[in-house]
Amino acid sequence: MFSPKAKKNFMLAVVGYKPQDYRLEEVPIPKVGPEEVVIKVKQVGICASDLKCYQGADRFWKGPPAPYVKPPFIPGHEFIGEVVKLGPGASEKYNLKIGDKAISEQILPCWNCRFCLSGKYWMCETNNVYGFHGGIDDGGMAEYMKFPQGTINYKVPRDLPDDVAVMIEPLSCAIHAVQRANIELGDIVVIAGAGAIGLCMLQVAKLKNPGKLIMLDTKEKRLKIAQELGADIVINVAEEDAVARVKDSSDGYGCDIYIEASGYPQAVEQGLEMIRKLGTYVEFGVFGHEAKVDWSIIGDQKELNIRGSHLGPYCYPLAIEYLRKRLVKVDMIVTHTFPLREYKKAIKIASGGHDSIRVTLAPNENT
Ligand SMILES: [Zn+2]
Ligand SMILES: [Zn+2]
Repeated sequence: MFSPKAKKNFMLAVVGYKPQDYRLEEVPIPKVGPEEVVIKVKQVGICASDLKCYQGADRFWKGPPAPYVKPPFIPGHEFIGEVVKLGPGASEKYNLKIGDKAISEQILPCWNCRFCLSGKYWMCETNNVYGFHGGIDDGGMAEYMKFPQGTINYKVPRDLPDDVAVMIEPLSCAIHAVQRANIELGDIVVIAGAGAIGLCMLQVAKLKNPGKLIMLDTKEKRLKIAQELGADIVINVAEEDAVARVKDSSDGYGCDIYIEASGYPQAVEQGLEMIRKLGTYVEFGVFGHEAKVDWSIIGDQKELNIRGSHLGPYCYPLAIEYLRKRLVKVDMIVTHTFPLREYKKAIKIASGGHDSIRVTLAPNENT
């Protein structure tokens, strides 16, 4: 075992080895180099992608194109924490002081590829993101974590509570997806999937003043929350003919915009069916299995705009602002918080998804 002195430099972390083989271990507390920041993690959310990874989805462990996960790794990309160490130059570069609340964008840009060099850093060819690869991009399911050199970091207002600030990353993703949808005044907008990010998309889309906001899900509890957060119509796709109802609500044409945030392959097919001709389809969901659709709907039948959406580039300052002004509310979204030691229970509750929406871990509480 560690001597008390040596132990001082160690922390508890969840370490992923194989699907369903994650372990609570003592690992070294990260050290800071030039322009690097170490935070004490206050909260970290468990995202649908974390669950799919834990459950062993091929996309993460096999590919194509290649295995995404590089074990052993510390999961967690939806973190918020307090600055405890600043390397030389970090304070000036990020306007951060010890004790500040801080966040880092999920992607660690290389700043060398054509995407990074043209400002499209979120599509960085290297694609290092926190929480899936061991090493420099270890994530936040630990007592401490490092924001390495070259990352994009922000100070978060102190008055934003941790269980609100933990939603900055998911909300940034939601804002980017809504921006990709180019919603016009009066549009009929359908969002598929009332999970944490779908419910954020709903509130952000509302700021665009659409004609009707329609939320789809299979869980009544989530649909009720969607209604409370401003959905005009909610449809339980397990019980109702969602395509017929959306068409009925749009003089038979179909919705103008469809944002897919459920990650279920059926939601792709359903979206292509309920969207009007020349409509815009935004794909955000991460699928555990391949989605197969008839591509002639996209060209020959409807001439659709199909737009992908990935991460939340340039959206973190807006996300912080919306949360601060309560234009986006997350108190009904962050439903459970557990200490790090109970990560298995937390994953189980997050996977069930009946009573929970976003489950978070608080690595420095009761550990
Ligand atoms: Zn996420
Ligand atoms: Zn790059």
